[in-house]
Amino acid sequence: MNFSSVIGQQQVKEKLLLSVQQNRVSHAQLFLGPEGSGALALALAFAQYINCENRTETDSCGTCPSCIKSQKLIHPDIHFSFPVYKLKSGSENPALSSDFIKQWREAVLANPYQHINDWLDFINAENKQGNVSADECRTIIHQLNLKTFESRYKVQIIWMAELLGKEGNILLKILEEPPADTVILLVAENRDLLLTTILSRCQIVLIPRVSDDDMLDTLLKIHQLEKEGAMKVVRQAEGNYREALRIINSHEEDEADLFKRWMRLLIEYNQPELLKWIDETVRLGREKQKRLFRYALEFVRECVIGQHSGLQNSFLHDDEMKMAEWFIGRYAGEDWEELRRWFEEAHYHIERNAHPKILFMNLSARIGQRINAKKVSLAGTR
Ligand SMILES: [Zn+2]
Repeated sequence: MNFSSVIGQQQVKEKLLLSVQQNRVSHAQLFLGPEGSGALALALAFAQYINCENRTETDSCGTCPSCIKSQKLIHPDIHFSFPVYKLKSGSENPALSSDFIKQWREAVLANPYQHINDWLDFINAENKQGNVSADECRTIIHQLNLKTFESRYKVQIIWMAELLGKEGNILLKILEEPPADTVILLVAENRDLLLTTILSRCQIVLIPRVSDDDMLDTLLKIHQLEKEGAMKVVRQAEGNYREALRIINSHEEDEADLFKRWMRLLIEYNQPELLKWIDETVRLGREKQKRLFRYALEFVRECVIGQHSGLQNSFLHDDEMKMAEWFIGRYAGEDWEELRRWFEEAHYHIERNAHPKILFMNLSARIGQRINAKKVSLAGTR
C-alpha cells in the first residue's frame, strides 16, 4: 500500500521517508502503536517504498512491477510472519505462517487495520491461541539468508511480535547482524508483552493514535459520512480506526441512543420500560456495556464543560444537547462528581465480570433516586 493510503501519521511517514532518502534505514525496526493506529499499514507502505523502482520524495509510485506485487502482498522479497495455530492438534507439522498466507492476503487487503482477534476469527482459530512458533522463527532466518529474487532489499514483516514469546530469542542474532540489505519490521501493539531482548535490538518507531482531524477527514472523504455522524464516530473511536470501522458497520443502536433512552426512562420514572431496557442492555454483552459507560463518562464531561462555558463547542448534538440541558439545569459540582464516579465504578465492575443485571438495577435505582430528589427540590424553589 502507498503511504497516501495510510490514515494521517504524517510525522511518522516523514521520518520513514527521510531515513530512506538519507540512506540510513535501520535493519531492525519495531513499529509500535495501539490498536487501530495503523502500525501494520505503515509497515506495508514502508516495505513497498524501499523497494519501489520509481519512488518520489513522498511516496512509492504505485505502478512499477515491484509496487504492484507489494500491493497484492505477493512480492517475493517481502516476507510475512504472523500468529497462526497448528492445523491439526497433535500433528508433527509445525504451525507456519506460510500455511495461512492466502487467508493473510485476503484479510490484510480487506483491512490492514485488523486486530489479532479479527485475524484469529478469520482463520477460524475459535478458542485456539495464535502464536509465532519456534519453527517460524527458524524459517525467517532461513529465508533471510537466501539472496533476494528481484529487489535490492529483503523485507521481513513480523506482525503481532508480542506473540513471539520466548521463541523470539531465536531471532536475536539475526536482529543484531542481519545479512546485507535486509530490513526486519516488527509490528506490535503492547510494549509490555515484548521480550526486552527484542526491544533492545530494534529501533523503535512509535506510532500514536490517529488524530481526530485525520480521522474526521477520512470519515468524510473515504466513507462519505455526514459531518454530524462523522464527528460522533470520531469521538467514540478515540483514535482507533478499527473501532471507527466497527461503529460504521454496526447497525445496532449506538451508545448515545441507548444512554439517552436510559436517562429518559429514569427521568420519567417509567419502571416497566426501564426493566425492559435493562434486560435488553444485559443481552448486548459486556463490550457494549463498557462502551455505554465510556459514553456516559464523556456525556458527564461535556455537561460539566457546558455548565461552565456553554454548550456551543460541545460534541453533543440535538437530542443529546436537550438531555444535557436537563441535567445542567439541575446538577452542580458534587452531583457531577458522584455521577462520574458511579459510571467509572460500573465500567470497572463490568470489566471484572460483575453480574450485569444486578449492576444495572442498582445503578438505575441510585441515579433514579437522585433525579427524583432533584425534581422535588426544584419544585420546592418555585
Ligand atoms: Zn513503485
